[in-house]
Amino acid sequence: MTRPDGVPALTNVTIDGERLWGTLMETAKIGGTAKGGIRRLTMSEEDKRVRDWFKAACEAAGCTVTVDTIGNMFARREGKNPDLPPICMGSHLDTQPTGGKFDGILGVLAGLEAIRSLDAIGYQTNAPIEVINWTNEEGARFTPAMMASGAFAGVFTEEYILSRTDREGTTFADAMDAIGYRGDTPLGGRKLGAMFELHIEQGPILEAEDRMIGVVTGVQSIRWFELTITGAAAHAGATPMPARRDALVGAARAIEAVEAVALAHAPDGVGTVGILECRPGSTNVVPGEVFLTIDLRHPLDEVVARMEEDLRARLAEIQGRLEFGLERIWVSPAVHFDPVLIGHVREAAERLGFRHRDIASGAGHDAVYTARICPTTMVFVPCKEGISHNEAEESTFEQCAAGTQVLLNAVLAYDATLEG
Ligand SMILES: [Zn+2]
Repeated sequence: MTRPDGVPALTNVTIDGERLWGTLMETAKIGGTAKGGIRRLTMSEEDKRVRDWFKAACEAAGCTVTVDTIGNMFARREGKNPDLPPICMGSHLDTQPTGGKFDGILGVLAGLEAIRSLDAIGYQTNAPIEVINWTNEEGARFTPAMMASGAFAGVFTEEYILSRTDREGTTFADAMDAIGYRGDTPLGGRKLGAMFELHIEQGPILEAEDRMIGVVTGVQSIRWFELTITGAAAHAGATPMPARRDALVGAARAIEAVEAVALAHAPDGVGTVGILECRPGSTNVVPGEVFLTIDLRHPLDEVVARMEEDLRARLAEIQGRLEFGLERIWVSPAVHFDPVLIGHVREAAERLGFRHRDIASGAGHDAVYTARICPTTMVFVPCKEGISHNEAEESTFEQCAAGTQVLLNAVLAYDATLEG
């Protein structure tokens, strides 16, 4: 759309909230559970049905749908300039075994709604638009999570993905072939112009602050550790207290230290002990060895590094006559999204009059991997009490519509900066 003076006009394209909600509720029946959630594991029969639904809906909207060799789906709507790489929207249609109706699904169906809204007024973008359904974001049936967007970005090889097995021993390749979703488009190897992913927050911050939109600036920096505490197993009756080297008492102090480290880096620092194993595990034996895991996160790499130093110092203080073996097993650097795209999202929220705030994602998303290969950003909407990966996951009609409108406006604002 061009004004008479030749300047591209930012036409208002209004999404249809009812239509969007209708698609969310209709597809929620595919793998729908009695408690109102969804069970739609990657490359299952339910996954096939929702993929078939998505393909048909996109084709009905005039898109060309291609599928790559690991099942990623791309619904393309051409723009004025075929030489431009596509502006992409999307997320994932797979769920956890007892997942909710919005995690991932909202981001894909919002892309479909955006296309339908553009079609409704015959809006022609400069760049092609693609709506993407990334395979197996959840990592529930096959690990790792986000494996197909990662493979698209060159983080994993195709052979690695195809050979992953589920708990029954079925390979990803066999599961994909069983539902007929091994496509013939080569994996990756082409340029994406930009990626916008709308997602529910999966945390409580937006709701608590009564904000409609999270302008996602990036993904937190993460460090994982394993801590093995060695003391001495001893008789629970015959060993006097001063003579004991109780590894579980040491673990209790270590868990408090993890909490203290996180609180010392509030409000953004978080620390979690998620696994605790106590050996030998007998009522009348003083625990001789404890194994536990530690997860530290903060939006900034340098702060997580300081949190680790702080943790090491505190553990050294409390170890006493125990041995503390702390091993760092995984480092995931902070992801910083594209400042230009972030600006478009913030401005879209602003212009639409939605209360918003900048926020760093606490969870991983496909956008983490696409950020390696193209300008990427995300839009968050609140979900009730921050509950996610749960059948009770809930976002409202208004929240889903608001996020979708912000998504589309940001995409169109970015598109307007390109040559038609
Ligand atoms: Zn998700």
